[in-house]
Amino acid sequence: MKKVSVQCRHVRLSYGSTEVLKDVDLDIEPGEFFALLGPSGSGKSTLLRLIAGFSRQQSGEVLIDGVDISAQPPWSRNIGMVFQSYALWPHLSVWDNVAFGLVERRVDRATVRHKVGAALELVGLSAFGDRRPNQLSGGQQQRVALARTIVIEPQVLLLDEPLSNLDKTLRVQMRQELLSMQRRLGLTTIFVTHDQEEAMTTADRMAVLDQGVVQQVGAPAALYDDPVNTFVANFVGTMNLLPGRVHAAGTPAATLQVDGVGNLPLPAQMSAPAGERQMLGFRPQSLQMTDAGAARDPQWLWMSGRVEASEFLGEFTRYRVRVGPHSVAVDQTHHAGQHKFAVDGDVSLGLAPSQLRWLSD
Ligand code: ADP
Repeated sequence: MKKVSVQCRHVRLSYGSTEVLKDVDLDIEPGEFFALLGPSGSGKSTLLRLIAGFSRQQSGEVLIDGVDISAQPPWSRNIGMVFQSYALWPHLSVWDNVAFGLVERRVDRATVRHKVGAALELVGLSAFGDRRPNQLSGGQQQRVALARTIVIEPQVLLLDEPLSNLDKTLRVQMRQELLSMQRRLGLTTIFVTHDQEEAMTTADRMAVLDQGVVQQVGAPAALYDDPVNTFVANFVGTMNLLPGRVHAAGTPAATLQVDGVGNLPLPAQMSAPAGERQMLGFRPQSLQMTDAGAARDPQWLWMSGRVEASEFLGEFTRYRVRVGPHSVAVDQTHHAGQHKFAVDGDVSLGLAPSQLRWLSD
């Protein structure tokens, strides 16, 4: 089947005086597994429903394969949508649930039999055709909902928090299944989630939404390593943020003045626009922690702090270190025999120039 692109051009949608989508621009590539990530109420479901045709933007365009479909009703858009609730018919067998869309479209019986059989096989439920939805586990119901959507051979698959009703273990398993199925079908897929781990582990690219505005679009690692602002930095992983300003003039070497901490010598490679107050962003695992007084690499930025708390999480230990008025998260990978830092101990935190990000608020 032909892989199609999905585009949103200057899409705006308001409910009454509440602007829910503000000038949304998105370019989703043919065959891409694309995540819409954002906190509750950021407009993710509204955008998905709008692409499906269940709600209509006040201005802007939605294009599939370059064709504006804004005026088309949902049933003629060739888009399949799986809802969070699955919305299976409780009184119908699994087979009949999956066949429903084909029967409605008056597809002949032999084709229905063939397509339903193939769809159930794809989701691994060939042996469950006679069951009713309430005789299935949550994960199996989810697969029926998928089979029912895929059977009509949509060009675009939309998934609204498809895994949120499943427990953690099943969710991890299902997201891999979903991804491998999507790869086999090559179906352009857009899925909504508020779970950053889910988006990061599965998406080719993702868009982070906040208050109806697309904050950033990119591959998960690109958003993680180079967030454009503090919202994305905090929403995708954990980021330490310290407000500061670079002083270049009047001193032998540039210094970094961090609010409430004072002036820190700024390594040459860490140059930043002088004078402008910005957020200094760095990930907990990019810091090197040493006991106070230990030798310091002069190419790095160093801060002094005191350990406030430590949490052992198996793979790593997360320390909270007080640096002036700030609490800094420091992750140290754990292995047997690893040196532990005592609570109330004085430490130095070192940061390599390549790990520092300057972020706007
Ligand atoms: P998300 O999926 O990111 O949680 P939604 O798209 O469901 O967010 O909602 C975005 C905003 O739009 C919320 O503030 C919500 O209250 C509002 N909203 C959604 N649907 C309607 C509606 N039918 N009428 C009025 N407001 C709505």
